[in-house]
Amino acid sequence: MILALATNNPHKLKEIRAILGDSFHQLKSLDELGIDIEIEETGATLQENALIKAQTICDITGLPALADDTGLMVDALDGAPGVYSARYAGDMHDDAANRALLLKNLDGVEDRRAHFCTCVAIVYPDGLSLVSGGRVNGRILREERGENGFGYDSLFFSDELGKTFAEASAEEKNRVSHRSRALRAMLNLIDKRG
Ligand code: IMP
Repeated sequence: MILALATNNPHKLKEIRAILGDSFHQLKSLDELGIDIEIEETGATLQENALIKAQTICDITGLPALADDTGLMVDALDGAPGVYSARYAGDMHDDAANRALLLKNLDGVEDRRAHFCTCVAIVYPDGLSLVSGGRVNGRILREERGENGFGYDSLFFSDELGKTFAEASAEEKNRVSHRSRALRAMLNLIDKRG
């Protein structure tokens, strides 16, 4: 089966390919499909946004399409930035500005607990949609650590790995991450569907 991946984010594409690579005949990025589109994430939840992105790309390509939507939930900020994680510091989707604002808003805060959540959606041309989720717990450091990864990775200290996601190798991050858990749950759903 050919699966369209409804993202332009090269980091996400790499992680998705590493986890789903063997399970599909072909995984095609938007670039490879010749699609240049910025899909507006107008949903109120990660699930709604993942479904909007997957549905849009399924409609355009006629292929089953997979999308993920991710949020960083910080306990002391009542779950913010959450579904607004990409636009935390404004509409320019600037990862460095988002991290700087997060550090500012947690200035002097002792409770640094946080988690990432990913919702993955697949929409099929026959109208069926499947949704799965994954979560990883950790805390927000007071300064960035590590060079790998993207987004909030250099601030997110994974409880399970004992290091930030930006200090972890790709394999280590993929072992425990929100995205890998949501993707593996999706593979289970697809298996059950037969
Ligand atoms: P979205 O899923 O593309 O909407 O991502 C939401 C925000 O979370 C963006 O600012 C991303 O850079 C960030 N983000 C998504 N996935 C990860 C991740 O695995 N690690 C760190 N940041 C992430």
